[in-house]
Amino acid sequence: MKPMKITKIEIYKIGLEFVTPFKIALGVVARGDGIAVIIRTDAGLYGIGEACPYWFITGETQAICVESGKLIARFLLGKNPLEIERHISDINAVLKFNSTIKSAFDMALFDIASKYAGMPLYAFLGGKQAQIFTDFTIGIGEPKTMAEKALSYLDRDANSLKVKLGTTCEEDVARIRAIRDAVGPDLPIRIDANQGWNTTTALSTLHALAQFNIEFCEQPVPYWDINALKRVHEKSPIPIMADESLFDQHDAFRLANLNACTYFNIKLAKSGGISAACKINAIGEAAGIPCMVGGMFETRVGISAGAHLILARENIRFADLDTINHFSEDPVIGGAVFTGSRVDVPDTPGHGAEYDPSFLEKMEKFIVE
Ligand code: MG
Repeated sequence: MKPMKITKIEIYKIGLEFVTPFKIALGVVARGDGIAVIIRTDAGLYGIGEACPYWFITGETQAICVESGKLIARFLLGKNPLEIERHISDINAVLKFNSTIKSAFDMALFDIASKYAGMPLYAFLGGKQAQIFTDFTIGIGEPKTMAEKALSYLDRDANSLKVKLGTTCEEDVARIRAIRDAVGPDLPIRIDANQGWNTTTALSTLHALAQFNIEFCEQPVPYWDINALKRVHEKSPIPIMADESLFDQHDAFRLANLNACTYFNIKLAKSGGISAACKINAIGEAAGIPCMVGGMFETRVGISAGAHLILARENIRFADLDTINHFSEDPVIGGAVFTGSRVDVPDTPGHGAEYDPSFLEKMEKFIVE
């Protein structure tokens, strides 16, 4: 059989307005400026990938992603798209960091491979169909406003909330008190400090929040200080999830080896894609660390790939896929379907999501062929 070849790669700067600005401890975001990648082959098959550079976290901007994307595209041109593991390894050898743009290419390659196999991506990765429930995320604000947001999510059948914190102990406790009072005692609430605390503030705040029935806390301390993460994890009454401290499998190994957290938060934009995400999850599984899959500000293309990944690995227990709620429009056809907090993944080959051609037409485009 003649091997398939990559003949053309399109890179798009995609942009979407938010309904309202979203505030976390690291800053405010008001738009989703992402990258779409379409890899075309001589067999007529094509794969679609997407990534959202979140400069607070990965250090990449949309402009950086375009330039590093052209480099990766020139490297892949003429190669067999099915040899994913080798391509990821070679790309990592020639381009350090830049996990976000790498993840868009990885996603497009997995889309081609699973379409080639005639399978939905989750099945191609060895998974099975199941129901996924995402949380609903509440940005930092006044306690009253955050409680109102929580109630609006209850109206949309929320089965868990994720609350952004990370300012002072007093303010953060007031936020959770207002939300817990509004939603009642049982709804699972997870919190995310986005590195906003130091060890002392983290421990005093987590002890003060223990009475509010909190499921876990993401990234209490700065990303680089995994010893502080370990100290907080050891003394916290609330389980700790590593997020910004965890990019790839090497971080996962260090965190597991140090016993620095209870859970891992995997995001394709941090790991560099599905290939590395599976390696992180394998390390987590071996170390007794269940995982969550979350996102930056991807459209339903990136979110669909994340949902397939959740179905593919049983150690991935939590879903944080609600970022699409920020956007003023949905430019995606097919892919994961959201009904309240429930996410249904289609059984079409690949990840199943495509951009509406009329949306892509309006976006700036770069072609490598
Ligand atoms: Mg987080």
